[in-house]
Amino acid sequence: VNILGERALVLVAHPDDEVIGCGGTLARLAREGYAVTVAAMTDGVYARQVVLGSAARRWDQFLAVSRLLDFTPVAWKWHVPDNESDGVPRLELARCVEALLAEHRPDVVLTHSRCDLNVDHRRVHEAALVALRPVPGAPSRDLYCFEVPSSTEWGLEPFRPALHVDIGGEPLQLKLDAMDLYAEEVRTEPHPRSRRSLEALAAWRGACCGRQAAEAFEVVRMVR
Ligand SMILES: [Zn+2]
Repeated sequence: VNILGERALVLVAHPDDEVIGCGGTLARLAREGYAVTVAAMTDGVYARQVVLGSAARRWDQFLAVSRLLDFTPVAWKWHVPDNESDGVPRLELARCVEALLAEHRPDVVLTHSRCDLNVDHRRVHEAALVALRPVPGAPSRDLYCFEVPSSTEWGLEPFRPALHVDIGGEPLQLKLDAMDLYAEEVRTEPHPRSRRSLEALAAWRGACCGRQAAEAFEVVRMVR
């Protein structure tokens, strides 16, 4: 992780995406002194015609994960039904992200990849791109995109990471422990969100950069 800067903002569609996409990296950022904020757009409850728990339970899980990984949890459009962010004007989402940027002043922003099949993930990605336009006078902010198994690899675009963050040892263990807190989002094998698949992806991303375990990110923008 590039240690330029002190504050990181993570923009996710649903609570659990932060763990699946970058949970090990969040553990490292906290250990390295970053102030980390994770902003979840929706409660993530009404997915795929199945009600996965209640919004209140999901908030409690998000809080528990925030204590484990040491970040500040924020809900920014909590009651948009899952997979229905198409019904929210894009300008409104971008303005929400602009408000988060103004409040948290991040040096680093992590969010979903444009590759994702999940429409909420793509809307969050697009809102981040709009809000983070590098217009003259804008602060320098890095923008990286993580992968979310069962969305990124099921989409149409290839995920092309350029940044690898070593999460071997404790960060990976914290990521897996955090995932256990979202129990109903962990699937059985061979689903991409099974525990075995998450561990296999961490091992593969590590193998891609000569480490035991890693998380991979597309680099959208770095300004130096
Ligand atoms: Zn999601």
